[in-house]
Amino acid sequence: MTKESLGHVELEWTCPFCNTRNRGRNKVCANCGAAQPKDVQFEQAAKDELVTDAEGLELAKAGPDIHCPFCGTRNPATAKKCSRCGGDLTEGERRESGQVLGAQQTGPVAQVACEYCGTKNPATNVKCTNCGSPLAKAPRPKPAAAPAAAAAPSRMSPVMLIVGGIILLVICGAIAFFVARGFQTETNVARVSDVTWRRSIVVLGLAPVERSAWADEIPGDADVGFCSERERERSPFPTDRSEEVCGTPYVEDEGTGFGELVQDCEYIVYDDYCEYTTIELMPIGTIDESGSDLNPFWPQTRLEQDQQLGERREVYQITFDVDGETVAYETTNASEFARFAPGSAWQVEINGFGDIVNIEPAR
Ligand SMILES: [Zn+2]
Ligand SMILES: [Zn+2]
Ligand SMILES: [Zn+2]
Repeated sequence: MTKESLGHVELEWTCPFCNTRNRGRNKVCANCGAAQPKDVQFEQAAKDELVTDAEGLELAKAGPDIHCPFCGTRNPATAKKCSRCGGDLTEGERRESGQVLGAQQTGPVAQVACEYCGTKNPATNVKCTNCGSPLAKAPRPKPAAAPAAAAAPSRMSPVMLIVGGIILLVICGAIAFFVARGFQTETNVARVSDVTWRRSIVVLGLAPVERSAWADEIPGDADVGFCSERERERSPFPTDRSEEVCGTPYVEDEGTGFGELVQDCEYIVYDDYCEYTTIELMPIGTIDESGSDLNPFWPQTRLEQDQQLGERREVYQITFDVDGETVAYETTNASEFARFAPGSAWQVEINGFGDIVNIEPAR
């Protein structure tokens, strides 16, 4: 993000003694003559219009004003001596600057009725055009795109709480039931009635694959298809394919009675995003072997040029006869499988779901 200056706008301040609004450049109250105290902040005018007069521009850019260390009077940054008491300003305190005052006030200006004669004046006026009395500040208009107020947190009704409680209890009960079933085991004598095995290997080969990437990241030998322009990144700098986007202008206090109208900007950088086809090694098939004995072996194949063997998988199943019922057990461990000679006797521990959780040779 880069901050761009759009110019300067004149701020205003309200006299704490007589409540008169004063233009930012006025260092003493136009009504009662009191100097603006250090703690009286500048505020945005009813409408932020760019300062065009030479005097205003010079004041705006001079740097934060200095408050006299003796009488508190506001003096321009360039002054050496206080305009009111003649005191030396080198020890004086500079006004704060850089605070964000708010978004630029644009659009139609509200009308404010004079408290004394009732004349309607635009809110930008500090004095009544008819009788010259000070005018109050117009209520600030609500920003047009104000975010909708967050919905108040809804209170849960008692019925919802009860229903929620019941659901929670049912869930807890179900979990407890499953855990209990899982832990409840029974040991039985079992005989191996059947063994089966299956081994497979993935075959990898070169094949066309569709991919997409930024134009400058596509491999050189790829076949480039459809391309479209997309936002690639945000940058503080322009490129030959970028578009500047800026946020809402806002006003920053310059400490001079003026504010700088600024906006934060950045560039959307566009680029071509393309579909392309490239040749890659990828799974093109699987070869399998299976059997019903204790001698598993890996499948054999003759690979063609540019083919490779990929992932290997093996799974072994042992079927037990437990009191006339069959219970299956699966493993991927070949040496474990080798122990289960058909007809051999084992002690198997079966849980509440009918799954074998432990196997030991029969005693
Ligand atoms: Zn005053
Ligand atoms: Zn002074
Ligand atoms: Zn009036």
